[in-house]
Amino acid sequence: MKSTGRGRKAGSARQDSGNDSPRESTRARLARLGLTRDWDFLLHLPLRWIDETQVTPIDRLVPGAEQQAEGEVLANEIAIRGRRQLLVRVADASGELLLRFFHFYPSTRQQLAVGRRVRVYGPVRGGLMGLEIVHPRVHPVREGETLPQRLTPVYPTTEGIGQAWLRTRIERALRDVEISESVPAELLGDIGLPPLRDAIATLHRPPQGADATGLAQRHGPLWERIKFDELLAQQISLRTARARRAERSAPELAAGGELVARLHGALPFELTAAQQRVCREIEADLARAVPMQRLIQGDVGSGKTVVAALAAAQSIAAGFQAALMAPTEILAEQHFGRIAQWLCPLGVRVAWLAGKLKAAEKRAAQQAAADGSAQLIVGTHALIQDAVEFAKLGLAIVDEQHRFGVAQRLRLRSRAGAAERTPHLLMLSATPIPRTLAMSYYADLDVSVIDELPPGRQPVVTKLVAAGRRDEVLERVRAKAARGAQVYWVCPLVDDGEDESTAELTAATRMFDETRALLPELRFGLLHGQLPPAEKTEVMRRFAASEIDVLVATTVIEVGVDVPNATLMVVEHAQRFGLAQLHQLRGRIGRGTEKSFCVLLYDEPLSEPARARLKILYESADGFEIARRDLQLRGPGEFLGARQSGVPLLRFADLERDVDLLERARDVALKMLASYPEQAAAHVQRWLGTRAEYLVA
Ligand code: ADP
Ligand code: MG
Repeated sequence: MKSTGRGRKAGSARQDSGNDSPRESTRARLARLGLTRDWDFLLHLPLRWIDETQVTPIDRLVPGAEQQAEGEVLANEIAIRGRRQLLVRVADASGELLLRFFHFYPSTRQQLAVGRRVRVYGPVRGGLMGLEIVHPRVHPVREGETLPQRLTPVYPTTEGIGQAWLRTRIERALRDVEISESVPAELLGDIGLPPLRDAIATLHRPPQGADATGLAQRHGPLWERIKFDELLAQQISLRTARARRAERSAPELAAGGELVARLHGALPFELTAAQQRVCREIEADLARAVPMQRLIQGDVGSGKTVVAALAAAQSIAAGFQAALMAPTEILAEQHFGRIAQWLCPLGVRVAWLAGKLKAAEKRAAQQAAADGSAQLIVGTHALIQDAVEFAKLGLAIVDEQHRFGVAQRLRLRSRAGAAERTPHLLMLSATPIPRTLAMSYYADLDVSVIDELPPGRQPVVTKLVAAGRRDEVLERVRAKAARGAQVYWVCPLVDDGEDESTAELTAATRMFDETRALLPELRFGLLHGQLPPAEKTEVMRRFAASEIDVLVATTVIEVGVDVPNATLMVVEHAQRFGLAQLHQLRGRIGRGTEKSFCVLLYDEPLSEPARARLKILYESADGFEIARRDLQLRGPGEFLGARQSGVPLLRFADLERDVDLLERARDVALKMLASYPEQAAAHVQRWLGTRAEYLVA
């Protein structure tokens, strides 16, 4: 490729325009792209390819296609046609072509001086003055220069790093680095994919005739090889993090304590088979000297709280403390109330810690945690603030764990106090993760699934109703309330550019006033995030005690709130909510024995995608199924904790599409870790370099 080296660099005037910026910042810019070592450049694969291997005679150019022509510059002038622009006429034996530049540099003009021979590439279109290309790539042709034999890669880049520079740098890496296999041949035999060297070299420079479109869609064995190696790196590093955790020691919290048995006896219900199974899994983990890292996954209403309480009892019975952290004050307070009701009669000392406590109360709670006089501490984020130390923490429980970042979840455990032992960690979540995502996400977690609802639950009937039919809905509310049922009336934040808190307040209060005026005979309550905590508690207490018929609320009730007598929910502007959020909201009802209804009021006109989304909710009551279909509509990016779970480190693989590759990668990862630990480490290093540390949490 010697012949094109210099020409190319001069050639792509547009992409290279920023390249004259100060040299010293280039390194910083590259670092932002994750490009420092040779291997980073090798794995910096093209986004797409352009075919400069052929020249089309000008009279055979087709508008709409991306094509290359070659000719001599006939004219070159700057014109003002509405906008200042550079117009260049190029001709070959068959015809003439106009090139149009709205952004250009003096160097662009020089390259296209009259009489020069150039190859130009770009989307052809029919203009008033015949065929033209706006902002073509320009390649000055030297005497006797032949056409390239390979497709030209186009790389992801950032301002100030030009395509030509990247290509040269990557060529150099391809020349200097020997692309050896990091996966041992013995394991590689099984996977049926091309050698890594071929995949990397060919993707950077596919031969003439290669299917540029298919490649850009990341189809085919070359890409599969790349994705496989990427997934392998991810699997190995997650497994490594897990192994490192296993080297730390945790307090052994003996199973079968008397307190646990007494709590079982005091419960007003029998545990479901699923709850019993999960309890046994946790019980066994807690008794081991290795810190547990377990997630309980169970759809809303499946009864995760009691399982957490039983785990806490095991810790307390063994002479250690337990802490339970919840993402909202309402939920933390509800847990505190419920768990205190179960455990206090058994002599357990339970403390409550939230950010909005009075200073003296907060100090007292902190003190009780620090001197061990509190055995169970329930609270919000306040639990992980600096002032909090636990005397002897055996078990940290994080409810609705996806509401917290990785760092926050781990911080609760790091407050352990005493001994160098690492407390066990139990996380609860109702937000389901599709299996494909789970396989990555869970590589460093054990998962217990509560896949059964307590008996007697009735499925919630969901209805989609246009906002124009609000009257019928009010009628239904009236009828329900007359029979003693309670109602949630949920409204979203109004996104009218105000700051969130005022918007929330206005939306909720407006709804409250309007609805109350229409149903004067009912008792109303209002609940939103801006209420003082004492008032929130009071409203929830009154609702739970059936002193309120209709609770107008924002999404503060989304997580965990439990009032079985509430059997109707009306959601305003349902199309503005995410599916997972609606499913969570809907989980507030259907908790008692009465049939429950969820009415999703939508505003008209409803777009087709919005309708398709809401229909999912109407068709399915299964959180997993909803998540799976939501994933198909939205892509995986937004799922719980996904951002911090190693998933973002995947640049090429797609967890939904590449599930079979993921399975193969997981198997090879296990074998490599078992038999070739050094190669495994080298493989991770090659793929993740300095980014590997993000994975070790
Ligand atoms: P979630 O899993 O959504 O956190 P909760 O723990 O809040 O669910 O439980 C929902 C409701 O079901 C609570 O009122 C709880 O007391 C009740 N519950 C939990 N387990 C059972 C059971 N085995 N039988 C009957 N009711 C149960
Ligand atoms: Mg819950």
